[in-house]
Amino acid sequence: MALETETDSIVQQFEYSDNDVNKAVKEFLRQADEGLEKDGTSLSQIPTYVTAVPNGTEKGLYMAVDLGGTNFRVCSIQLLGDGTFSHTYNKVAVPKNLMVAKKAEDLFAFLAQEIKKFLEEHHSEDFEHHIRRRMTVSSPDGFRDEHIFRMGFTFSFPVKQVGINKGTLIRWTKGFDIPDAIDKDVCALLQAEIDKLHLPIKVAALVNDTVGTLMARSYAAPGKNGSVLGAIFGTGTNGAYVEKLSKLKKPLAGDYDQSTGEMVINTEWGSFDNQLNVLPTTKWDASLEKDSLNPGFQMYEKRVSGMFLGEILRLVVVELLNNPEVSFFKDENSSSNDRGSVTIISRDSGLFKQWGLDTAIMSTAELDQDPELTGLRQALENNLHVYAPAYEDALAFKKVAHAIGRRAARLSAVAIGAIVLQTGKLNDKDVTEEDPIDIGVDGSLVEHYPGFRPMIYEALRAIDGIGEEGAKRIRIGLTQDGSGVGAALIALVAAGMEKNANAEYIGELRSTSKAAAATDGSADEKATNSD
Ligand code: ADP
Ligand code: MG
Repeated sequence: MALETETDSIVQQFEYSDNDVNKAVKEFLRQADEGLEKDGTSLSQIPTYVTAVPNGTEKGLYMAVDLGGTNFRVCSIQLLGDGTFSHTYNKVAVPKNLMVAKKAEDLFAFLAQEIKKFLEEHHSEDFEHHIRRRMTVSSPDGFRDEHIFRMGFTFSFPVKQVGINKGTLIRWTKGFDIPDAIDKDVCALLQAEIDKLHLPIKVAALVNDTVGTLMARSYAAPGKNGSVLGAIFGTGTNGAYVEKLSKLKKPLAGDYDQSTGEMVINTEWGSFDNQLNVLPTTKWDASLEKDSLNPGFQMYEKRVSGMFLGEILRLVVVELLNNPEVSFFKDENSSSNDRGSVTIISRDSGLFKQWGLDTAIMSTAELDQDPELTGLRQALENNLHVYAPAYEDALAFKKVAHAIGRRAARLSAVAIGAIVLQTGKLNDKDVTEEDPIDIGVDGSLVEHYPGFRPMIYEALRAIDGIGEEGAKRIRIGLTQDGSGVGAALIALVAAGMEKNANAEYIGELRSTSKAAAATDGSADEKATNSD
């Protein structure tokens, strides 16, 4: 039968063998090293100035904000020091007109207003106390003071980080466009608006979501070994891992604590192998590429992450629909359709629009073990407006979706496996099945796609240097609080660095502050970052 033959041939083109995996791991390691040596390589290997991962004993109250694509989240996190925490948060949609505002100030003023609202709503006591003290305590550097909230700022756009709380915007993505902000320090932009409102907050850390994931995981993970890698498989994909300072050869712009001998590196692995030395390319990958906004970039991400898998599947489906040799989502008459009807694809179906097929339906397809594929066929109707799809057609859709998802999982194992090898931890005798190498992952794809992690493990077992035995000593756990707890933990690390750098200054400030607190008579220590 033509459809079945055609489907098998498509599935085969998405196959990614153990041999392919191993070749790609070697190339990943090569590109990773190259990125540690110089700028401008495909794996950017960005130093984050975070030089330690938490062990779960950290304590204190911190703030975290997250500007992702669509929403702005504000939260406060109480780290309880036993791997657990409590938190409070608000979420608001970023108004469309601010995404394309004339001045950076317009957007950042809105963010500061939301932070103010949050403080008034959830921390009114601390807030009023600080507002009063703000009027009396000042410092040469503006509002620095040890009694203010330290805040981690998760900013999910490309920035050139030059310090733990300093980074300039390289370009906007995800529908934002405020040219005025380009090349400006986003932490300073936010701090300026916070200061205008006299809020008791210091933007202490600029946080990348993968670094946040690593920190959150390391805080919460069981066992004595800290986590080595935080990875995202959501809209995009990226990973941050703990590297030895001795391997980081390129010069660093800002100051950092050298005592741990390590630094967290943001790999920006979405750009792994932009030159296509080893990545697989089907004609559908090529077609996606041709019509993408950034041809030649994020080549690994375009084969792995949620934003793209659905589009690859859509392109295959469109080809099948246009192929006169196969009957796919169309029937001669109702007798060739097991529903006793004929399939109709609505003209407004997402199948006919770029990005019109959400990767989520691939999870539905994968999940559906029903002999009649009832769930998938329902989803085809509801989500893609393909009415009365026949069983064979739904089955072909499921097989192709599986092939694309499976290739993505095996490619994910390339990055994960390579980083594990890069850390050399498998040679460490302390790393056992009970106390394994710990990895935190986040993102809807890895969370919701059935079998994604098992398929990653299957590929890990095939990697030279990992194998069956090594894979048993790797634990991949879901972690969802990267931009909350993770950001708070980075703010904590930053506060520690600040303390070292400014110990004397803070000492002086303490006496001034005490005097000021005594005059307003309500020294409220709750907002103090304890360490
Ligand atoms: P973000 O990356 O913006 O933080 P998510 O982690 O939720 O957000 O990832 C969103 C991406 O995951 C989208 O590309 C979406 O298509 C995809 N996605 C959402 N739900 C699922 C699902 N159930 N299975 C697979 N992919 C999904
Ligand atoms: Mg996310």
